[in-house]
Amino acid sequence: MKRLIDGFEHFRQQVFPLQRELFKKLASGQSPGTMFITCADSRVMPELMFNAQPGELFVYRNIGNIVPPYAQHVSGVVAAIEYAVRVLQVRHIVICGHSDCGAMKALRKPELVRSMPSVAAWLKHADVARYVVEQNHAELSDEQCLQCLTRENVVGQLEHLRTLPVVAAALASGSLSIHGWVYDIALAELQAFDAQRGRFVEIRAGHDQLPEATPHLRFAAAVASAA
Ligand SMILES: [Zn+2]
Repeated sequence: MKRLIDGFEHFRQQVFPLQRELFKKLASGQSPGTMFITCADSRVMPELMFNAQPGELFVYRNIGNIVPPYAQHVSGVVAAIEYAVRVLQVRHIVICGHSDCGAMKALRKPELVRSMPSVAAWLKHADVARYVVEQNHAELSDEQCLQCLTRENVVGQLEHLRTLPVVAAALASGSLSIHGWVYDIALAELQAFDAQRGRFVEIRAGHDQLPEATPHLRFAAAVASAA
């Protein structure tokens, strides 16, 4: 706790005074352009990764960057998405998985979460990734399998995202885009799902257009070549 309290004091003394005007403006409202859904993993820090200022990113985190399908499960993440789209009117939703994800490891080895019934039940929403990889890519090494599960889970969660009426309506009107990304912790690399090509491609500054994730196209067909 001392570490946190000292950290807050540093923020109050060193960071806040430099951005006093921004915080004054933000005190009465927010207008973030992007909702960023990622894993709760402590190594994934969206604001740090994107050099984002307060008020820019509407971040939601849970184990495995999961979005349960509509009507199957009333969850915090679904409520937050409705709020982000309807009230904040975000223009983008990103679902971002990451390397070395414990949730993805548990998909492969359910015994890892046997003593955690809530975690095991939550990960059922990512079962599609496990099943697709299991059925299509039995030959992969452990490392390749984890990478495929992580990517396939992002694509599966994008599909769930589209089942939310509020998201489907905003996509239909063209006011919202959805994106599926994977962040590599060791390499500081970002890859985005490109639905047109059915594969993940590296995101680099200077690229004209981000690949669109319109997840009616499945990813599995391209998993082997990407691994
Ligand atoms: Zn994770």
